[in-house]
Amino acid sequence: MYMSQFIKITSLIFSFCASIIYSRAQQKDLVDFKTIEAHIQLDTINQKVFGKIDVLFTPLKNTNQVYLDAQKMETVTPIKDAKVEYKDNKIWLKGDFKANTAYSFSFNYSTTPKKALYFWGWDAKNIDPNSPNHKQIWTQGQGKYTSNWLPSIDDMNDKIIFTLKIDFNTDYQVISNGSLIHKTTTNTTTTWVYQMQQPMSSYLVALAIGKYLKKEEKSASGVPLENYIYSDRITDYESTFNYHKKVFDFLETEIGIPYPWKIYRQVPVRDFLYAGMENTACTLFSDDFIVDTNTFDDQNFVNVSAHELAHQWFGNIITETDSNHHWLHEGFATYFALLAEKELFGEDHFYYKLYESAEQLNHQSDLQKGKALVTPKGSSLTYYQHGAWAIVALRNNIGDAHFKKVVQQFLTTHQYKNVTTYDFLSIVFEVTGKDTSEFAKKWLHNTTFPAGEALKIITQSEVMKRYLQLAGERTQPLIGKYQLLSDALDFPVNPYLGQEVVAQLQGDFSKEALLLLEKAFESNQPQVLQALANSLTTIPKAFEPKMALLLKADSYATVEGALYNLWNNFEAKKMNYLQATKNLIGFNDKNIRTLWLVLALNTPGFSTTDRTRFFNELNSYTAPNHHYRLRSKAFEYLKLLQSYSDQSLQNLALGATHPNWRFKKNCSTTLKALYANEKYTQRINRLSATFPNKVKQLLTTD
Ligand SMILES: [Zn+2]
Repeated sequence: MYMSQFIKITSLIFSFCASIIYSRAQQKDLVDFKTIEAHIQLDTINQKVFGKIDVLFTPLKNTNQVYLDAQKMETVTPIKDAKVEYKDNKIWLKGDFKANTAYSFSFNYSTTPKKALYFWGWDAKNIDPNSPNHKQIWTQGQGKYTSNWLPSIDDMNDKIIFTLKIDFNTDYQVISNGSLIHKTTTNTTTTWVYQMQQPMSSYLVALAIGKYLKKEEKSASGVPLENYIYSDRITDYESTFNYHKKVFDFLETEIGIPYPWKIYRQVPVRDFLYAGMENTACTLFSDDFIVDTNTFDDQNFVNVSAHELAHQWFGNIITETDSNHHWLHEGFATYFALLAEKELFGEDHFYYKLYESAEQLNHQSDLQKGKALVTPKGSSLTYYQHGAWAIVALRNNIGDAHFKKVVQQFLTTHQYKNVTTYDFLSIVFEVTGKDTSEFAKKWLHNTTFPAGEALKIITQSEVMKRYLQLAGERTQPLIGKYQLLSDALDFPVNPYLGQEVVAQLQGDFSKEALLLLEKAFESNQPQVLQALANSLTTIPKAFEPKMALLLKADSYATVEGALYNLWNNFEAKKMNYLQATKNLIGFNDKNIRTLWLVLALNTPGFSTTDRTRFFNELNSYTAPNHHYRLRSKAFEYLKLLQSYSDQSLQNLALGATHPNWRFKKNCSTTLKALYANEKYTQRINRLSATFPNKVKQLLTTD
């Protein structure tokens, strides 16, 4: 999975590990499940799944029962005379099973999944019938258990070859793992058959259904690359996927093992729980990463896309035995994504990102909250950033040639199997002949981040040396560091140095500071301009025209900062700034438009009709047909305005049941706070008849 700069994900995924380990110890030594073929129908009205399963397994010991995990099934019916029993969220297959003999079982099942498979927009009110991305079904296996909709094995240690046959309305695309081996249409129903050739853990099974356009490219090695996009976002195809083929070719060469699956798909889905998920050969990602050209420099799909692709090796062909070794997935995926970015965006970007994560890890260490890397309960900072750092340090220690050999040998020795940190270290020893205990102690088991070694690596970059010298002056008065700051703004301005200078000038309006601000504006470096737009909360009058020009910048983050600060600083010109930006929308979360509405509502001079229109528009963005990030923003602004329409209060209640835990939490906290406020209690009581039952209960509990 992936966390990004603008979608922070915490890793709650592994909290159930203790129980997994226990049950695994019993079943994985007893039986090897070989194949699962599922024929699935989806009832979108009742949000139910109906399936038929054919399963093939080989007991490793004589036994009279084995099980498949199957969370909260409603019916389980054996086919023919199969002895099948459903008990304790498991489907027990019974018989007189002999070791090393193949057995097959068939049964039907039905369930209404509460998680792992999600129906979107099939019953929601306020739907936008013109939005092609409105109605979707998608799955998330990791952390949620695929067995909520598809009886399988929750334990990662039994890898299975899956075939999924899905019947669905012909107007939609059905997408899953593996090769599409059949597609047949009868009347209004199409049957899609997707087949894997190699085994994988059940958490990597994926299903996505929606209305998509598909574009196909081919990697240099001939792997079909299928990218999906909504028809109303086709103009953003290039800016979303433009580097994908290049990254694919780069990673295949860099990792040195051919891409292990037959095809690779990337499918955007709405309101996804994470940034992306590396289902085998079928990555699902948040449609927030469909970006236009103006968004690209601020937010793009490159890192997430490279990260999920790297998992196709690290995580999908080799898989951790348990969460202690989770860094072998996330550390490698984060590291290789960073290498891909280095290839595209250069060394400065690479070292700056390493520096940023070292800062975070070091800070955590300073607070005595550091974690060892080999742990079942790491945060995403641990598994992803610390994990990537351990790999950077290892490569720095053993050299490029040995490192590449280690990666290749690790992947080929353990392909389609499960691995531990020990397996990895053994390969390092085999390849290099070097004792790994010092490395393991320092980077894998130490709760203190090895900041000194990290610093040595970061300062291999000349730019980072200059950056750190500059950052070292943060607390010094301007008079002594003027020349250093001025030099950092010499053409061509490095964005990291330039931004650091602007940050150090904040709140300083001396003659020297104004000279440097002037130089910063004149650099015309987009990131430096963005820093100016956002950090000049007090704008010296002489800079008003220069700041007003930033309302025409390409970057939506720059425009947002400039608009807010200008509006706040120059009372008489408020209307001019609003006129200049009245047609701008911004990122997918409409950052400029929503800010504009709030500022307009607080600017004298608009008619009552206009003001009502603005208020209604802002409220409309809280509706469930919008992405939860836009809804969050709209709720935040309404909170600031202390003004909610009935509709937005109802939408807040719907938000309190959203599968994204953070959005859900924000909505429920806000709703409860409003309910406690006398001004809203009666209104909420009146509206609560329309609230979901869970939310009604929430209001009456503390
Ligand atoms: Zn990941």
